[in-house]
Amino acid sequence: MSEMMAGLAARAAALGVPLTAHVDLTYRCNERCEHCYLDHEDHGELTFAEVSALLTQLAEAGTLFLTLSGGEATLRRDFFDIVALARSLGFSVRVKTNAVLIRQAEAERLRSLGVHEVQVSVYSHQADVHDAVTKVPGSFRRTVNGIAMMTAAGVKVVVANVLMRRNLDDYRGVRALAARLGAACTLDPTVTPHMDGDRSLLQLGVSTEALRDVFHDPDLMDPVDSSCLAPPVDGDEDLGNALPCSAGHSSCYVSPYGEVFPCVQFPLAAGNVRTQSFGAIWRDSPAFHEVRSVRVRDLPTCSTCAHMGSCSRCPGLAYMEGSMRGPSELDCAKSFARTGIPSAGMLERAGRETARDVPAGVAFIPIAQVKSGRRPAPAAAV
Ligand code: SF4
Ligand code: SF4
Repeated sequence: MSEMMAGLAARAAALGVPLTAHVDLTYRCNERCEHCYLDHEDHGELTFAEVSALLTQLAEAGTLFLTLSGGEATLRRDFFDIVALARSLGFSVRVKTNAVLIRQAEAERLRSLGVHEVQVSVYSHQADVHDAVTKVPGSFRRTVNGIAMMTAAGVKVVVANVLMRRNLDDYRGVRALAARLGAACTLDPTVTPHMDGDRSLLQLGVSTEALRDVFHDPDLMDPVDSSCLAPPVDGDEDLGNALPCSAGHSSCYVSPYGEVFPCVQFPLAAGNVRTQSFGAIWRDSPAFHEVRSVRVRDLPTCSTCAHMGSCSRCPGLAYMEGSMRGPSELDCAKSFARTGIPSAGMLERAGRETARDVPAGVAFIPIAQVKSGRRPAPAAAV
């Protein structure tokens, strides 16, 4: 996070302003990615008039940074009308798309509307691997063409590479492809459970050993999404007072059906803009009040963990695992992969496994590895 963004986020959190909003315009999609957690049926998307009202209310609440995504947002016939409206309301707009429907005309439209950035999912530099993930033959060619059209039109493109078992060996190739296309590249090893709670998708994620190799690749930047970072606590030296992340403090998520959540990865329902104004939900919802009440010192396991100062812990993933105050198994795995030191969460789970009381789901960390690791020192900073 740049210094300017960190300052803005801190001010927004202090004033209770939703600086950043992520709005999914549809869950429909023209791909069927094997790791996708969405239900692609249309259960009654917000109409253009409802989206207009939402964007107006977000602007009134102080939102500056708007992500428009899906599903595949460009499937909406009014997609460009929504982007134009968002720009006219003064938002800095980021679009997430698979770029399958982006041709020259669409690329030039995005450029002329002044979209800040377009993020495109690419799973491999090899067509057969990418198409095997999306389950749509020819999708790689169309996605790459879409990226090329956008970079040629002067649109800033970021390739988003989700790392899974199937495409594990391809991240260097994806980075090289992005560079050839004039795009930046990010890497994300996060695979989340299906929105219906089914955790079987987690089996597609990479193993701890593979994660360790990725984290130790000197060519890679730290793949932590800077938009997640908690706004710094102004002038407060006690890290126990720190916020877990930006969700519900300076950022939020709205689904295609008007449901408001702290984050796209934090399915704690706060209200619906079809029955209440966004401002009332943001200000008064008990769910947001609950999220905002949590400080790092309130996390019973994580506050004792050696990794707390460096961990990318996601409260949303932790919530899906049982408690927004608990550890997240994936983030424990990432911390272990980075350092080789077992986390407090791993030790706790190992203890539960010994007591034959492990919750259903994927055991992401080989427990034998946990038990043989050394116990982390108490965290110095919390
Ligand atoms: S809930 Fe997770 S994904 Fe969302 S902002 Fe927080 S850390 Fe990031
Ligand atoms: S490594 Fe695990 S236990 Fe430690 S702070 Fe991160 S999520 Fe919490």
